[in-house]
Amino acid sequence: MSSQKIFLFDFDGVIIDGMHEYWHSSLLSCEKYLNSPYISFDQKLYKRVPNSFKEMRPWVKYGWEMILIVHEIIKTENPLKNHNKDDFINNYYQNCQRILNDNSWIAEDLQKILDKSRKYQIDKDFKSWVNLHNPFFEVISFMKELKKRKIKTGIITTKGKIFAERILKQLNIFPEFVFGYESGTKIKLIEELTKTYEILGFIEDRKKTLIDIKQNAETSHIPCYLADWGYIKESDRYNLSNEIKLLKLSSLENLVAILQ
Ligand SMILES: [Mg+2]
Repeated sequence: MSSQKIFLFDFDGVIIDGMHEYWHSSLLSCEKYLNSPYISFDQKLYKRVPNSFKEMRPWVKYGWEMILIVHEIIKTENPLKNHNKDDFINNYYQNCQRILNDNSWIAEDLQKILDKSRKYQIDKDFKSWVNLHNPFFEVISFMKELKKRKIKTGIITTKGKIFAERILKQLNIFPEFVFGYESGTKIKLIEELTKTYEILGFIEDRKKTLIDIKQNAETSHIPCYLADWGYIKESDRYNLSNEIKLLKLSSLENLVAILQ
């Protein structure tokens, strides 16, 4: 095994809380680029993130799904609200596919629109865009502690790589690498990384991703941590297999200690 030690992190919900940014950028995508006849626009929508959006965030795997959710929330007829939210969630994947079909949308196009909306904001007012994100400072300290111990850090996200990099730079964090959705699935990427690095752990807030890692023979040895502070479903906290540890922000200091 390689002597290059590395610790892996997901980005959204692990290093930063970007809830305001997800809402803002997805809403801007709907306003500027989606051209849907089913929505009407009010600038007040930017002011507050609705609870229905916050509560659905744990189900989101890729950014484009957020545009679709925002579209459903701001629809003029039969919008997604708290009372019908559970029906959506209970069949989340199928509902996303149905809405794509009904509107003749393609997931990749929605993802491009989201990236475009982020680029637009960065070009227009970078500072305001960055300020829509709140870092988890305990995680930032943890990353700095790792650096002191000569342990590298790597980031694997389903966000566009350049956007994660812009935020990390602002936080003075320079990982060994950042992989975004453009680079492929997390499981494939991590499998590849095991050839070069000794992976000391992976912190992620999507339980399914961690289960996949544990079930893959090439990656099952990697210590997996579910970020308790991230966008996780209430049910994720329970019935965790022994192999996936629920990690709290307050436990990061102890984790540094055992990595020495
Ligand atoms: Mg995440």
